[in-house]
Amino acid sequence: MKQNNKIFDVIIIGAGPAGCTCAQYLRQSNLKVLLLDKNNFPRHKPCAGGITMKTIKHLPIDIKHLVQHTAKNMKFSFSENQSVELQNDTGSCVMVIRDEFDNYFFTETLKTGVDFQKISKLEGIKYENEQLIDVCFDGNKMSTRYVVGADGANSKVRKLAYDKQHLHPVSAYEGKVTRQIKDNAVTEFVFNESGYAWIFPKSDHYNVGIGNLISKKHIRKRTKEDLFNFVAERFKGREITDITAFPIGTEGIDYTSKNNVLLVGDAAGLAETLLGEGIYNAVISGKYAAQSIIDSRENNKSATTLYNSFLKKLSDELALYNKGAKILYGFPKISYFAMKLWLGEKFMTGYSNGQTLSEIMGKKKSVIT
Ligand SMILES: Cc1cc2nc3c(=O)[nH]c(=O)nc-3n(C[C@H](O)[C@H](O)[C@H](O)COP(=O)(O)OP(=O)(O)OC[C@H]3O[C@@H](n4cnc5c(N)ncnc54)[C@H](O)[C@@H]3O)c2cc1C
Repeated sequence: MKQNNKIFDVIIIGAGPAGCTCAQYLRQSNLKVLLLDKNNFPRHKPCAGGITMKTIKHLPIDIKHLVQHTAKNMKFSFSENQSVELQNDTGSCVMVIRDEFDNYFFTETLKTGVDFQKISKLEGIKYENEQLIDVCFDGNKMSTRYVVGADGANSKVRKLAYDKQHLHPVSAYEGKVTRQIKDNAVTEFVFNESGYAWIFPKSDHYNVGIGNLISKKHIRKRTKEDLFNFVAERFKGREITDITAFPIGTEGIDYTSKNNVLLVGDAAGLAETLLGEGIYNAVISGKYAAQSIIDSRENNKSATTLYNSFLKKLSDELALYNKGAKILYGFPKISYFAMKLWLGEKFMTGYSNGQTLSEIMGKKKSVIT
């Protein structure tokens, strides 16, 4: 193992939205940051590319030029005859092409002075003491004081530093269906007890996907065949191309960090289980991990303790999504009537105003600001 003498304040593993957010906030305080990823950019990440208004509030980059559509018209279907249509002039979220978004985010992050290295294999993370963690990859050893694990749902950092596996992974398939300009650009979610499907409009295509958000023995896992069937039914035989699938990291409600190794985003399992939104929690966890590290250095506190107090608040928010998901997927009829009578409008307005779920549901002001 070759010891590299350069010492970084923070080594971040994974350059998706969680890793890049964390890196940029750390650079605002001039910390020395090394970002590692197993891919060069641009790279593909299976994703529908819906970015909610609340996410934009925390993003350290401006993404206006990447927006291909704004979800001003939405439709939520619970059965063939039970659907709710909603409208808002601001829109509940913006649609980007995920690969373009990540590539731009990555490129802007490098401009802030972050060092980047493409790696083939992350081999070890060894906590020596409060001041020193060794990160081993590709036969090299690098030392740092903090490690941020931002390497997504199949996190290797989680395995190496926490020896923790997520036992009930959920996942989704997505692909492209050509959009004819005269098409009605409605952003749709279609629910049933075994999962959800979506149709997200982009400039020249729809991102169409299908997945499970609740993992239970009696619930059948969604397959590629289900996606073909959904497209055949909704688009009258139009083809779907570029199909990919990936797990969504949703099992982090009880996650707490230790030993200055902070997991963020899907690596920590922070995506929500109601609609599978993960970019927001990737961004805010990346931001708060950075702030915890900065505060810990400035005020001689433990970054782990500071980050855990953020995670506790986030866990309350995730619990609210879990409750919502149980109702949505367990009782679609009740969900339909609730959405039709009052909840739909409330959701559409709240999402469009960039509110968190707890704010939308009238709980005390969200603790995550
Ligand atoms: C089909 C699908 C559709 C989705 N649609 C949406 C949506 O519309 N809106 C939304 O908010 N969320 C959506 N999500 C969830 C969202 O994609 C994730 O929550 C989000 O990408 C998490 O960001 P992250 O930065 O934590 O991880 P990722 O985006 O997964 O980034 C992880 C990074 O780590 C790198 N990496 C992985 N392993 C290693 C390793 N061993 N060593 C080094 N680097 C490594 C990867 O190359 C990658 O760059 C969707 C998910 C799926 C599967």
